[in-house]
Amino acid sequence: MRLLIISDIHANLTAFETVLKDSKGDWDYVWCLGDVVGYGPDPNECVDLLRSLPHLCLAGNHDWAALGRLDIRTFNPDARKAVDWTRTTLTPANTAFLEALPTTFVIGNYTLAHGSPREPVWEYILEPLIAALNFSHFETPYCLVGHTHQPVIYEQMSENGDTETIPPAYRQVRQLNGHRQIINPGSVGQPRDANPDAAYAILDDETNTWEYRRVAYDIPAVQKRMRSHEMPERLIARLEHGW
Ligand code: ZN
Repeated sequence: MRLLIISDIHANLTAFETVLKDSKGDWDYVWCLGDVVGYGPDPNECVDLLRSLPHLCLAGNHDWAALGRLDIRTFNPDARKAVDWTRTTLTPANTAFLEALPTTFVIGNYTLAHGSPREPVWEYILEPLIAALNFSHFETPYCLVGHTHQPVIYEQMSENGDTETIPPAYRQVRQLNGHRQIINPGSVGQPRDANPDAAYAILDDETNTWEYRRVAYDIPAVQKRMRSHEMPERLIARLEHGW
């Protein structure tokens, strides 16, 4: 089956719709790695659109925050403000959808988690050392994660922990080679790798091939909606810078 792999939509409907348009006809099913809401102006629209697609979705920390499941005192003030707005804006049906999301999922050769297999909702895998510590926490050859908003592959080179960092090569089909890997597709709605374009990937789970993609979307349209909801200016500005 061909899969659209997305993560960290963060209530950015314009980015989400652009990814769907850009990938149209290339996939049969969606795997979403969490953080459908939080930060952006369109939480209900994004959940509605995801629910209209054949999909599997995991819980992210911002999804949990919107449910009041987390102590958000550790969030910065801007993120906290966005969480409060999201919580009061979500419809009961969409809140129920988020409440039912699992934290990990194992399907065929793939383990799915938002943050990491070791700490599915919370841990950031931002460096090979952290990736190396996570390989013993899943049993499949490959693990897909989001959360950092940075597309990257960590490949286990040997059992003693050597882990290589492989940067994304866009629009190139990569054959997964049987070495164990932790793979991040990047973020649809709030990229943080200094590239503001929406990130996603296409996976074929029968041939085990992976393709990274980026697509530009109408950032000013999203910023305009954020301003109309009086969302924090820092959250509005970061979209155009990709951080
Ligand atoms: Zn996120």
